Amino acid sequence: MAADTIFGKIVAGEIPVEKLAETERVIAFPDIAPQAPVHILVIPKTTEYADVTELAAGDPALLAEMVEVAKRLADEHADGDFRLIFNNGAGAGQTVFHVHAHLLAGGLKEGSL
Ligand code: 5GP
Repeated sequence: MAADTIFGKIVAGEIPVEKLAETERVIAFPDIAPQAPVHILVIPKTTEYADVTELAAGDPALLAEMVEVAKRLADEHADGDFRLIFNNGAGAGQTVFHVHAHLLAGGLKEGSL
């Protein structure tokens, strides 16, 4: 279960973001500290899942919907190719415990992680 996080506040509209995509269950907005020419966060609106392992176990269709939204954004904002990163756990660099995908695209170095 995700605790009260900054992304929960974004979903609730308490912190304004530029919405780049929105479905009934998913929103996407630019990362505040971009690490690539295109760096978009794709998140579910539900605060139920802290990380991708919880989401995959609890609602795989919602995870698939996040991937679909990421693909659409990569088509719109880059050439359609993209990297999708889920940091899972503090030791892997996760700082916000509301599951989110980092969509990186546009001029990525070939072969780099
Ligand atoms: P994590 O490190 O948990 O995988 O990723 C959290 C991401 O959220 C970071 O890349 C960070 O830059 C981004 N972030 C943190 N706070 C905000 C915010 O208030 N607005 C936006 N747009 N991004 C944020």
